[in-house]
Amino acid sequence: MASTGILTRSDPAPPDAPAWSRLVAGAIRDGAELCDRLGLPRERADDAPGFPALVPEPFLARIRPGDPGDPLLRQVLPTREEQVKSPGFTPDPLGESAAIKGACLLAKYANRSLIVASGACAVHCRFCFRRHFRPADPPSEESIASAIGRLAADPSVHEVVLSGGDPLGLDDPRLAWLLARLADVASLRRVRVHTRFPVAIPQRVTASLIETLRGTRLVPIAAVHVNHPAEIDRDVAAALGRFVDAGIPVLGQTVLLRGVNDCADTLATLFERLVDLRVMPYYLHQLDRVAGAAHFEVSETVGIRLIAELRARLPGYAAPRYVREVPGEPGKRVLA
Ligand SMILES: *Cc1c(COP(=O)(O)O)cnc(C)c1O
Ligand code: SF4
Repeated sequence: MASTGILTRSDPAPPDAPAWSRLVAGAIRDGAELCDRLGLPRERADDAPGFPALVPEPFLARIRPGDPGDPLLRQVLPTREEQVKSPGFTPDPLGESAAIKGACLLAKYANRSLIVASGACAVHCRFCFRRHFRPADPPSEESIASAIGRLAADPSVHEVVLSGGDPLGLDDPRLAWLLARLADVASLRRVRVHTRFPVAIPQRVTASLIETLRGTRLVPIAAVHVNHPAEIDRDVAAALGRFVDAGIPVLGQTVLLRGVNDCADTLATLFERLVDLRVMPYYLHQLDRVAGAAHFEVSETVGIRLIAELRARLPGYAAPRYVREVPGEPGKRVLA
């Protein structure tokens, strides 16, 4: 194995930066290096320009070395399969690019709106539907101001979903500033944070983050992206517990992925583990058909069969809704 680990890397984060931001700064950003660290041939990697590998050490530590089929590795290693063109798989499957480049507010659904709050993720998931349109990080003050203006003009919106990128890629002062601006909008009641940080870098869930989330009158909710039981080690479990202990409800969101979790046993283990951690499985997402991700697709027929098996095996609340996003529809379409 080559010695290109965190110890030899020149770390651009200042020494007084929080541990999580040093883990972001020190993350592996090169597929060949990822292979070196895991004892795999470098030829397995094929870095995609514009959406390179990004794997932080805490996530890397959960990947089995020497196993090219590891379900965590499959989610993060850029490969040649991403260059394969498949009919129906497009750069912008949800027609969002204009909104992401513009005012950072997506108001497609009744009662809630989505703000693209940051471009910085803790990990690059190869199947990400925003892989071809990375939002500005951090968003410009003008784009936030315009989003707030539109929220204030529509009192039917009671909840804001912060998405990204990953909104927890914002540091606590930036997040506090954003939450305070949102709390100024009288009609808003709740803020939901869609994030993969607690899984990729559980060190992000600090006491200061919890205080920040609870620091306004808005009710905070966390929705955590988690796809496989092996993603949940002790640190991740503890991070999820810190939200729940603080009275912040946590929802689980999972993407159905071929070669990762397209198996009833794997999904049942995942959802039961989440419930044990007081996280409510919320959505199982059908893959969005983004160019470069065709090799991750599971057919809806198989998905419906899997969810039926889960409903037979798990308590009702532990089997999430199986949904897909259909552009132009007023909410996610429930498949089963
Ligand atoms: C998924 C999504 C939401 C939140 O939808 P819920 O069904 O309430 O979880 C809001 N806005 C957009 C654009 C979304 O894609
Ligand atoms: S964390 Fe979310 S936004 Fe970031 S790459 Fe993964 S799926 Fe995409």
